[in-house]
Amino acid sequence: MIADLYGSLRQRFQGDLLRPADVGYQAAAAVWNGMATKRPGLIARCADRGDIQAAVRAASAGKILTAIRCGGHSLAGFSTCDGGLVIDLSRMRQVTLDAHTRSARLAGGCLLGAIDRATQKAALVFPSGVVSHTGASGLILGGGTGWLTRRFGLSCDNVVAFTLVTADGQVVRSAARENEDLFWALRGGGGNFGIVTEFEVKLHALAAVTLVQGLTAEPDIRRLLEFWRDFMADAPMDLKWNIDLRLAPHSEELPGKLRGRPVASNSLVWTGDPAAGHRYLRQAISRCLRDSVSSRVISFLQLQTMADSCFPHGHRYYTKSGYFTYLDNGTIGHLLEALASIPSCETQIEIAYLGGAAAQISAEETAFGDRSAPVILNLLAHWSDASTDAAHLGWIRGIFHKLRPAMKPGVYINFMSGDEQDRVPEAYRQRWDQMIAVKTRYDPHNFFRLNQNVPPRSLSEKSFVG
Ligand SMILES: Cc1cc2nc3c(=O)[nH]c(=O)nc-3n(C[C@H](O)[C@H](O)[C@H](O)COP(=O)(O)OP(=O)(O)OC[C@H]3O[C@@H](n4cnc5c(N)ncnc54)[C@H](O)[C@@H]3O)c2cc1C
Repeated sequence: MIADLYGSLRQRFQGDLLRPADVGYQAAAAVWNGMATKRPGLIARCADRGDIQAAVRAASAGKILTAIRCGGHSLAGFSTCDGGLVIDLSRMRQVTLDAHTRSARLAGGCLLGAIDRATQKAALVFPSGVVSHTGASGLILGGGTGWLTRRFGLSCDNVVAFTLVTADGQVVRSAARENEDLFWALRGGGGNFGIVTEFEVKLHALAAVTLVQGLTAEPDIRRLLEFWRDFMADAPMDLKWNIDLRLAPHSEELPGKLRGRPVASNSLVWTGDPAAGHRYLRQAISRCLRDSVSSRVISFLQLQTMADSCFPHGHRYYTKSGYFTYLDNGTIGHLLEALASIPSCETQIEIAYLGGAAAQISAEETAFGDRSAPVILNLLAHWSDASTDAAHLGWIRGIFHKLRPAMKPGVYINFMSGDEQDRVPEAYRQRWDQMIAVKTRYDPHNFFRLNQNVPPRSLSEKSFVG
């Protein structure tokens, strides 16, 4: 079957077709999460939209299992498969900037860093994620949160049009007044509806931010989390304050007493006038150990790349996530217990406060999961020794089990692991039936199924109740 697919594409394909024995296949087959390593039968690295159409038509006709890849950062490992086809967009990374209208066109294979570098030439930004080697397509289609979410909204809130290749190989554009059902579903619905070849996006003026970082150690972490949840409820949109619970690195730059100890690592980004931010940042700093605090104005490009080396390609990762309306004291207790038993130095509990501009868009306007629960928690295990897989998976599942009863039902699809397909209806909740209707219209045979899958009507068993 794969041999037939290769044969039919070979004549007209402009990009690269890589089979397991070909030079370059190993590198092309690798994805970011080492836990998701697979061996596709064919990697079709498309040069243009025509290649994508040809690959979709041929794979659809041959009923070939097909994965779509932009940056390859799917935590769940959805952008690869065993034996099937990978449609790889890494040759399609053009960013076309129009500084005058503060807009850009992003090709479907872009990484976040390429967008940042291009838009910063005009001191403009597209709000995206916090690691520059992440792919833009997967991130935007799932929603997209980052340092600028509170100021400018989710990534998907800043898309004005999508062009995609649907399961029948047609090119479809969707925007506010053009295929509106699709425009609604693509903003949070992931890769369910087709392959996006171009995003038309809005940009905003910003070139530098104030960054404050500092550590809080035991016994003060409980008080920090209590302060944070109340403080952020009224904080200005210009402030983003993320907390990671983790072990402090064994770094010379840190006071010796902290190295390897459980800490809360605070990162605060102020996007407004630095002088106006002082009074907010000062209060936050007072919760950190004085000799661990740094405060500086940095360029947007520095901000966007500062975490890149913390999440290397090929390591092993596993995640579970959820929302909280309020971080109650019982939940804080569970988080502290989990921190005390954290299985490795790279593993962390990421806690972020959404709200701001993202919460000002009504729930019905887009398919995106939940805008009303401000606290988003991501349990992220990160290790490299495969012999400790069970310990890391067990730790994540154990803490998730304890936290789950206090979570608001719902989940951000981009923070889900590959074994959570049963949570996909929960991600969309009251929007589930509408998702199925759009899926049925654009992908009736579920060709695009390696994703947080919304089944078409013929395959869906029931409506989501809850
Ligand atoms: C290091 C790291 C940092 C992250 N930071 C953030 C963050 O700050 N904020 C945040 O919101 N998320 C973040 N994430 C999660 C991230 O949003 C998802 O992992 C996302 O899927 C990555 O996109 P990608 O294009 O690299 O994924 P890929 O693995 O390439 O693709 C994932 C899925 O997206 C779909 N897809 C990809 N390209 C297309 C396309 N062109 N058209 C249609 N469907 C497509 C497919 O269903 C595919 O299976 C991070 C992930 C990692 C690994």
